[in-house]
Amino acid sequence: MIVSIDKFAGFCWGVVRAIDFAERELQTSSKLYSLGDVIHNAVEVKRLAKLGLETITVEDFEKIPNGSKVLIRAHGEPPATYKKAVTFGIELVDATCPVVTKVQERIKKFVDKNYQIVIFGKKDHAEVIGLSGVTEDRAVVILSLTEALENVDLSKPTVLFSQTTMDKETFALIASALKEKVKELVIETIEDEAVEFHAKDTICGQVSGREKKLREFAGLNDVIIFTAGKKSSNGKVLYAIAKDVNAKTFFVESKEEIDFTWFTGAKTVGITGATSTPQWVMEEMKSVLEDHFEK
Ligand code: SF4
Repeated sequence: MIVSIDKFAGFCWGVVRAIDFAERELQTSSKLYSLGDVIHNAVEVKRLAKLGLETITVEDFEKIPNGSKVLIRAHGEPPATYKKAVTFGIELVDATCPVVTKVQERIKKFVDKNYQIVIFGKKDHAEVIGLSGVTEDRAVVILSLTEALENVDLSKPTVLFSQTTMDKETFALIASALKEKVKELVIETIEDEAVEFHAKDTICGQVSGREKKLREFAGLNDVIIFTAGKKSSNGKVLYAIAKDVNAKTFFVESKEEIDFTWFTGAKTVGITGATSTPQWVMEEMKSVLEDHFEK
């Protein structure tokens, strides 16, 4: 049986950068707090915890010692978090992905111009909480065309943004429907040197560019092991794409969840993952499979 790792899977640029920030801090201090898990991947969080990274929430600011260092992960935070940090004497290590920062800045520009801000995204996702925070939670957050048509005030000057990890097709559908109905609509786009964007939306090229390559990889193998954290929103989207191409696609968070009966009759197995999946996790799974089938 041939086991191969998808060379296009793994951390996106923003996440690599945030982990780098954490590791660098932990070289000089034994303790660093992270606001929420630095990455939606339990095994990587465990590895960083051993180095001294502890996940907390904003509510914990009042419990941790004055002067503590707290990492803001790639998803970013709402302005209220920055204010609260000042109140409690917290030193922030800001690893917000520069792309997310750009989206926050654009939203602020439109808030100042009194536009209705519409965000295509998941209400409870940390990035959306940060984006919506810029509008003092006045943004209309929608997840589908139906929600857009029900909740957007069609008479107001409106700007449409997307959470950076949403799917392009649904966004395009919502954008074209709103274009027909809203009197004054801006569909906000973004460009960034580090990350490929397609000047049509604020969806990150690190995510959308993955779809095509993932479809190819899923079609080339008899069985696909898709590994990501269960909380990863990007993981769920990419897993569904792989499963759509190859019905024998299985989602696992750790190597212990692998069921060897999945591979009956398979000649090729592909290991892939989300933008939050560490390379070492995929390599570990490859070794587990190779060791098992060599016996
Ligand atoms: S997916 Fe894109 S926008 Fe999101 S953290 Fe990664 S590089 Fe940044």
